[in-house]
Amino acid sequence: MEASRLYSTKRVQSLKPTKKIPLEEDPTKASDALPLSLHLTNAVFFTLFFSVVYFLLSRWREKIRTSTPLHAVTFSEIIAILAFFASFIYLLGFFGIDFVQSLVFRPSPDVWIAEDEEEENEVLLAKEDARKVPCGQALDCLLPPLPPAAPIVTAQKVFDEKPVTVTTEEDEEIIKSVVAGTTPSYSLESKLGDCKRAAAIRREALQRLTGKLLSGLPLDGFDYESILGQCCEMPVGYVQIPVGIAGPLLVNGREYSVPMATTEGCLVASTNRGCKAIHLSGGATSVLLKDGMTRAPCVRFGTAKRAADLKLYLEDPDNFETLSVVFNRSSRFGRLQGIKCAIAGKNLYIRFTCSTGDAMGMNMVSKGVQNVLDFLQTDFPDMDVIGISGNYCSDKKPAAVNWIEGRGKSVVCEVIIKGDVVRKVLKTSVESLVELNMLKNLTGSAMAGALGGFNAHASNIVAAIYIATGQDPAQNVESSHCITMMEAVNEGKDLHISVTMPSIEVGTVGGGTQLASQSACLNLLGVKGASKETPGANARMLATIVAGAVLAGELSLMSAIAAGQLVKSHMKYNRSSKDVSKGSS
Ligand code: ADP
Repeated sequence: MEASRLYSTKRVQSLKPTKKIPLEEDPTKASDALPLSLHLTNAVFFTLFFSVVYFLLSRWREKIRTSTPLHAVTFSEIIAILAFFASFIYLLGFFGIDFVQSLVFRPSPDVWIAEDEEEENEVLLAKEDARKVPCGQALDCLLPPLPPAAPIVTAQKVFDEKPVTVTTEEDEEIIKSVVAGTTPSYSLESKLGDCKRAAAIRREALQRLTGKLLSGLPLDGFDYESILGQCCEMPVGYVQIPVGIAGPLLVNGREYSVPMATTEGCLVASTNRGCKAIHLSGGATSVLLKDGMTRAPCVRFGTAKRAADLKLYLEDPDNFETLSVVFNRSSRFGRLQGIKCAIAGKNLYIRFTCSTGDAMGMNMVSKGVQNVLDFLQTDFPDMDVIGISGNYCSDKKPAAVNWIEGRGKSVVCEVIIKGDVVRKVLKTSVESLVELNMLKNLTGSAMAGALGGFNAHASNIVAAIYIATGQDPAQNVESSHCITMMEAVNEGKDLHISVTMPSIEVGTVGGGTQLASQSACLNLLGVKGASKETPGANARMLATIVAGAVLAGELSLMSAIAAGQLVKSHMKYNRSSKDVSKGSS
């Protein structure tokens, strides 16, 4: 008991000098009050001090020599004495006090020991805290947690250079309760009513739980309210992806600057080269063939016969009118276009297709499908709805149904590249490109058993544009289905190239398209938001731009490969060796 009291007394005393630290860090100095700079003031007082000392000593010697009494002082001597005292006091104050203080208040070594002890105690406490924390599967609880009392300082250079400090005492309490598991992380937004603060607190709690710093992941410079309830849950920051511009891409007589969000070097440059080749050849033509989003629920019956009954009912043209009235109640933009069924024994897969205006349309189509399922239940009470999505849709998975039937926007885009442009811009020949396309994109992909992958790198361009414009990047799977065709035309002088893409799933309203950055990219393309004149026109135009950019990407990469392959082929197989040697001589 006594010992602990002694210990605590010692701690309090020894900690006193450490409290001086903030004072030492106080940027306000006494010298700030001086009218001249510190160095100049010191120089003045030094000069004054030694001058008056010299003057007074010489006067003193003079008085001794002339036997004049010392107390008989002249006016100049009085001034000199005053100046002596003034300069002495100044110099003593400036240099003496610090010296005296350093002697009197020098912290004893015990103080630093006590400070170390305090740090140790904090680490120990933190370790204890960590043990109390319920461990999530993905969390490594053996890692040392961050000091719990430290303010949240997020060093970042996003929009402002200042580090963001968000910890108040109240925040600190909330962080601790999230770390302890008493406040669910997901409830922070609704509890605090401030999405940015919620993200900052969640982030700090995560850092303490995992022992991993998130300093490279920015927190500031993002509107967390804009993602609430629709784009991302439990945010702790955002990932930065650079956006490059390829273009102008000339499609259907209009020029587009195409935003591409990517971290793959050369991708934008290469697409840009393709855009240049297209532009110099008069531009590409992009045609939308189909526009319909799909959703296919799975329903089950007691017998295959009953499943077949429903299939026949749904595919009977006489029933389409009724079904579309029921379906279309879901939205003023969702319009049922068709129903296609596939049976697997007692199970029926019903693929509904509908137009969705400028929305990509997954929500819209799902609502319509639910309406129809509810309606069917009256005539088919034995129908058991297994799931609103039975994978025959097919969303975000490679599937032949999308490749054959299409999903979203089906587009074909073509251009005739002049022979001159092939040589000067693409640095290859029409013949090499046609040969490479046949052996790589068609035969090679067939050999690989490709599903919609008859192209060089359509997904590169699709993914980059999708991320930049707020599309669902997971739909890159089917949106990148593409067959690239090349043919020599105009007596073999020019190149006809086309890309056919049956499942481009894009929208200009809903989802991530309304976020600030993504919306800016859509605006750049002139397809931001809902089309006022013709609902769906913006989304359809975006699909034609995607196809045009893919055309540019195919052209450029295929040319790069053709150019490289040609040289290698010449070296390996010695084809046209005479020409090569002639060229080099
Ligand atoms: P998705 O169906 O792609 O998931 P959402 O349902 O999130 O998209 O967004 C579509 C919403 O936008 C709907 O509520 C719809 O009524 C509204 N909307 C406004 N204008 C349009 C338009 N031109 N085309 C499609 N939807 C539109």
